[in-house]
Amino acid sequence: MLPFARVTIIGLGLIGSSVARAVRATMPTVRVTGYDGDADVRARADALDFLDDIADTAGVAVIDADLVILCVPVGAMGAVGAEIAADLPADAIVSDVGSSKETILNALTAALPGATIIPAHPVAGTENSGPEAGFATLFNGRWCIVTPPEGADPTAVERVIAFWKRLGANVETMDAKHHDLVLAVTSHLPHLIAYTIVGTASDMEEVTRSEVIKFSAGGFRDFTRIAASDPTMWRDVFLSNKDAVLEMLQRFSEDLTALQRAIRWGDGDQLFDLFTRTRAIRRSIIEQGQDDAAPDFGRSH
Ligand code: NAP
Repeated sequence: MLPFARVTIIGLGLIGSSVARAVRATMPTVRVTGYDGDADVRARADALDFLDDIADTAGVAVIDADLVILCVPVGAMGAVGAEIAADLPADAIVSDVGSSKETILNALTAALPGATIIPAHPVAGTENSGPEAGFATLFNGRWCIVTPPEGADPTAVERVIAFWKRLGANVETMDAKHHDLVLAVTSHLPHLIAYTIVGTASDMEEVTRSEVIKFSAGGFRDFTRIAASDPTMWRDVFLSNKDAVLEMLQRFSEDLTALQRAIRWGDGDQLFDLFTRTRAIRRSIIEQGQDDAAPDFGRSH
């Protein structure tokens, strides 16, 4: 049995349009309605034809939904919650796909008192944005973390889990605070480091920008992919997951200082030990199917 019959997606960018396409591919009888705050995005989504209906307001979009998924930037979640509050059916479940969870839960709980709110975060994405960037298989074999609030209705949680499994994701549940700490180290800190490195390279005076681009295959290029991620999304992620990111950044700075000292004092053993441990982490990621082992520096695959 399908977990939902009428799904509404608000925010039709990379993630929202991927959810819509994946629903169509895996649950073709489910009716998918969409809304985006940007009229141009609505028109493009219409032309791409991955929805059954496009509404002109957020309120109209949710009027007969049994699942509403907010796929807007983290900082817009509360405002969208307020926009749908008056029209949300009493038995509808509200979920979202935001990259940080505690602040979203607080914002949605305040905007939608009494509503059933079951937040989730599909840990899948690309550096591209907009409805053209989405695709139906984005969530295949990826993790989706569901973060039910304390006392959440277990049936509602099960339905949201069943929905993401249908889209091809593996599902894990945890509380919002723990999610934010885990993602601070696995996603938010790496993005911050990439933004920093690419920023540093572009500010250098002794090495020209054309040299940085020309010799980028030495490692820099991989950071540029992450640092090309959407500025609005990532601004909101850092502002909303401030405490966990600052804690991870503190630990990272301490570890960086230790490496700085090892290099200064010629402590090759310390460097070698660390690089051996990190290589093992890469192997585990490949073994668990979270990446493939094809050599990547040539990028011919
Ligand atoms: P995106 O491609 O930029 O799409 C977001 C869409 O929401 C845009 O079309 C945007 O319109 C629209 N929007 C913004 N404010 C709105 C509002 N108040 N009401 C209605 N629509 C509004 O971004 P995305 O990558 O899909 O990210 C969406 C959410 O998914 C974010 O919360 C993000 O944290 C989460 N997420 C992203 C990834 C990833 O890798 N990208 C992965 C997992 C989760 P405009 O562009 O015209 O403002």
